[in-house]
Amino acid sequence: MTLIPLPAFADNYIWMLHDGHTALVVDPGDSAPVMQALESENLRLEAILVTHHHADHTGGIAFLRESTQAKVYGPANEPIPAPLHGLMGGETVTALGLNWKVLWIPGHTLGHLAYYADSGHDSPILFCGDTLFSAGCGRLFEGTAEQMQTSLQTLAALPATTLVCCTHEYTLSNLRFAMQVEPGNPVLESYFAHCQKLRASGLATLPSTIGHERNINPFLRSEQADIANATRQYDPTGFAQAGCFATLRQWKNEYR
Ligand code: ZN
Ligand code: FE
Repeated sequence: MTLIPLPAFADNYIWMLHDGHTALVVDPGDSAPVMQALESENLRLEAILVTHHHADHTGGIAFLRESTQAKVYGPANEPIPAPLHGLMGGETVTALGLNWKVLWIPGHTLGHLAYYADSGHDSPILFCGDTLFSAGCGRLFEGTAEQMQTSLQTLAALPATTLVCCTHEYTLSNLRFAMQVEPGNPVLESYFAHCQKLRASGLATLPSTIGHERNINPFLRSEQADIANATRQYDPTGFAQAGCFATLRQWKNEYR
């Protein structure tokens, strides 16, 4: 199996997994990079997995379905171009011969889904859309901070070796924020330098792993004393009223 992030727009990745003959893609906001990859590798597109309804994740679906007859899976209760195999979470989708567990992870949007497969590849694979980013998490457009925190805890409980395939290249800016809120974390600086090198060579910083995110991602570490202290200092009232996670998410919104 080959796992590739196809760059799209300014900072999106359309993840493609293929076995040399058949492919699946996740969140094709644009059809062009997918068509190009299918043609250059001579692949048949079997399935399109959609995490949520935002245009940068769905804009290429109609064209791809028409050109490839791929099956489209996505959240049943979000506006995604039909026909759609609608999912709520809890189902299993079979694609590329792998069984993808569908996880309901609301917060960024209310129907947001993740897809997880634990066999058939070297490591388990997680497609998590705009919920978990490397060193960060998605903005709260539709859900509550509590929902997002629960969703992130669900993802953090997956095996440490799980490959985390996020939809955006936000790692460097997320790490700048992470170093601000947890300056004593020894892993952050070396990871930042590593990611800077990757970006300077035009390479993706992804996939990450769940084990790595547990060590660096402030949104998976909001119970750490250093992070709690920094967040309380940033906004004592918000911290007292809404708690650490919600205040940390708000701090990130305001961080430049
Ligand atoms: Zn989004
Ligand atoms: Fe997005």
